[in-house]
Amino acid sequence: MSIHSCIFHDFPLPDREYYAAAPMQWDEPAVSRLRRPAPSRRKPRRSPLPLLALLGLVLFAGGFLLGRAGAVSGGEAAGAAAGGGEPVRILAVPGAVRSEGEGNAPNSGEDWALLLVNGDHPLPKDFQVPAFTQLVNGHSIDKRAYPDLQRMMDACRADGLQPTICSSYRTWEKQEELFERKVQACLSTAASRQEAEEQAALWVARPGTSEHQAGLAVDIVDKSYQLLDEGQEDTAVQKWLMEHCAEYGFILRYPTEKSALTGVGYEPWHYRYVGVEAAGEIMRLGICLEEYLEEG
Ligand SMILES: [Zn+2]
Repeated sequence: MSIHSCIFHDFPLPDREYYAAAPMQWDEPAVSRLRRPAPSRRKPRRSPLPLLALLGLVLFAGGFLLGRAGAVSGGEAAGAAAGGGEPVRILAVPGAVRSEGEGNAPNSGEDWALLLVNGDHPLPKDFQVPAFTQLVNGHSIDKRAYPDLQRMMDACRADGLQPTICSSYRTWEKQEELFERKVQACLSTAASRQEAEEQAALWVARPGTSEHQAGLAVDIVDKSYQLLDEGQEDTAVQKWLMEHCAEYGFILRYPTEKSALTGVGYEPWHYRYVGVEAAGEIMRLGICLEEYLEEG
């Protein structure tokens, strides 16, 4: 704890999160235009989708007729055309199946929302989220967790608050980049590369060990206070989320009193989707995901 605090003061803005560097429009709530993927009541106002879809179909059909069979990945072309204009779109990742057997053995094959990702249970490098929901601000999460995330954000805003998602799914490469950046920062004071890596790992998860790579975690801040430090817990948004997140299947994943078990310092902004049932029990009992899974 003291180590965390000390390092924390040296790095008031941990680059575990990269929201500050992202060219986002902070003048408006970044998530205010999130929409549910099934717009059953959507009005027929200007909607470029049918036109784009039609255009894609025509182009695809033309390409199919003119081109050679087998030389065209028509599905991708049509998908790209249809995915153009809408703020929220579902990105299917073809052939994405979790690796069998190795890595994450304790949970593989079980409830997808209870996937354990930590220093002892890294994701395999070929892990892929089966399908994403991409949010308007460039963020994306596992499609299966999206409806509950949207409900939570909607409910929070309905109470007059301004929650803002500042981090979500990350690729392996992105995590590697963040980790390496932190290692480089630590190298100036560390005695060796190994020591620098160990220091960096306190604040930036090593590639494969971040829940963000599983597409099941989001970092949410209060629009009025976007620093990722302990002051975040005093914001109205965090108070609301800590009280209500479980109703929507999310848990505060890294509470300060569980750092020894999670291996991660206090993060009063990191919410992990585990499903409503597990979230209710975890938050009610005041335990962490590691403890919940151990109890089976
Ligand atoms: Zn996070």
